[in-house]
Amino acid sequence: MATNGPLHVIIAGGGIGGLALANGLHRAGVSVSVHERESQRTDRLQGFRIHINPNGSNALAELLSPPLYATFTACAGHGGNGFGFVTEQLTELLQIDPDEGEATASGHYGISRITLRQLLLADLDGVVHYGSMLERYERLPDGRILAHFSDGTTEIGDVLVGADGGTSRVRAQFLPHAKRIDTGIVTIAGKYGLTPQSRAELDARLLRNPLSVIPPSGCGMFLAPHEFDIPEGAEQIVGNQAGIPAGLLLDNTQPYVFWAFAAKRERYGADLESLSPVALHDMAVRMTTGWAPELRTLITESDPETATLLPIKTSVPIRAWETTNVTLLGDAIHSMTPFAGIGANTALRDALGLCRAITAAEQRERGLIEALHAYEADMIDYGFSAVSASLNAANQSVSDSRFARGAGKLALRTINAIPVMKRLMVADLGA
Ligand SMILES: Cc1cc2nc3c(=O)[nH]c(=O)nc-3n(C[C@H](O)[C@H](O)[C@H](O)COP(=O)(O)OP(=O)(O)OC[C@H]3O[C@@H](n4cnc5c(N)ncnc54)[C@H](O)[C@@H]3O)c2cc1C
Repeated sequence: MATNGPLHVIIAGGGIGGLALANGLHRAGVSVSVHERESQRTDRLQGFRIHINPNGSNALAELLSPPLYATFTACAGHGGNGFGFVTEQLTELLQIDPDEGEATASGHYGISRITLRQLLLADLDGVVHYGSMLERYERLPDGRILAHFSDGTTEIGDVLVGADGGTSRVRAQFLPHAKRIDTGIVTIAGKYGLTPQSRAELDARLLRNPLSVIPPSGCGMFLAPHEFDIPEGAEQIVGNQAGIPAGLLLDNTQPYVFWAFAAKRERYGADLESLSPVALHDMAVRMTTGWAPELRTLITESDPETATLLPIKTSVPIRAWETTNVTLLGDAIHSMTPFAGIGANTALRDALGLCRAITAAEQRERGLIEALHAYEADMIDYGFSAVSASLNAANQSVSDSRFARGAGKLALRTINAIPVMKRLMVADLGA
């Protein structure tokens, strides 16, 4: 393998993990190019809030330039700290107040997906190629990788990183035995826009912090308020993008409450994929009949056009493979359900580990394959642990067992009533 000169790294996929890695490599002076299949304007238009935990924020702190990281923390919305569990009648089970969370949970942020993407792209002019989908790769006689893209171009690199998400082409070619499967759980998500009037109509408990709603059995709901506080000078990066056709980009500057209702597919009794956003919204309204009126207002008064269907998939953990100069990060190797809110954070942790490995090889501190192997050994361990944790969280949130639900609620109420247990739980979440 030709690794004597400076390295050139090809990243397939310009999502959260790929762009974070590109930032780190670019700053370290490693030659890097990102190939993203979508066009700049239409990619990843969900404006949903994403929760960044200390794994994610530590990675961003090292991978982004200091001014860009400062913009990230300044642009992150409120609501990253407190957390609560309630019944479907809005009876409190456990409430960790924002102040209690703040004390031990530093490094947690809530940020719009669009804003995060714009930040990750801000320093990468000339590095990212849009509309360039990796189709396949081949290994050249000297060991380097020749990547073929949908726009007819090819590129040679010393390392190919598959950061191409859950449907990764790199994984399909490199590790064809690694599977991604349907969990049978389906989510309908929507947004309740916050204007002075709509804010006044919503129960204050829904505006305080993210809440997990636990009905007696069979389904669950997550909701999270997202308040924007755009600092002066950051408007250029995070402001509305003029010229985008209405409906294509969700408004990225107006506060809202995000909600996601989850149940097993068979409980909906309909061909969900054939439903329009309005019909999906109707379905969520129907599935929450009998819930507290305050919770139902959140759903009934949301803009039906924001309703989105999300079938929940997960990867199946595999054993370690022989390390080569083709490697993977993020959802491309360990895609997981969104129920634990750790997929992006794990992708960011990968980006940091991989950036350090490649930089060490570039600086001749370690051999390339040795450095990549150390990254992969670590990543396989924590990545697939995260997959299991998020699958457990998903299964619990739609559990049919009234007994398990009852026991879980009792545990939450007990923690809520005993301050020392609450502090221990908060400390655990902040770790
Ligand atoms: C509703 C929802 C809420 C979530 N909330 C959270 C949260 O709060 N916290 C959290 O940590 N995680 C969350 N996640 C999970 C998180 O979004 C993912 O784990 C994360 O985006 C993975 O990052 P990635 O870079 O690996 O992949 P992606 O972000 O999926 O990026 C992959 C990129 O590759 C591109 N691509 C695909 N194929 C090709 C190809 N062949 N060639 C070139 N480009 C290609 C895609 O267009 C995409 O841009 C959530 C997920 C969902 C669905």
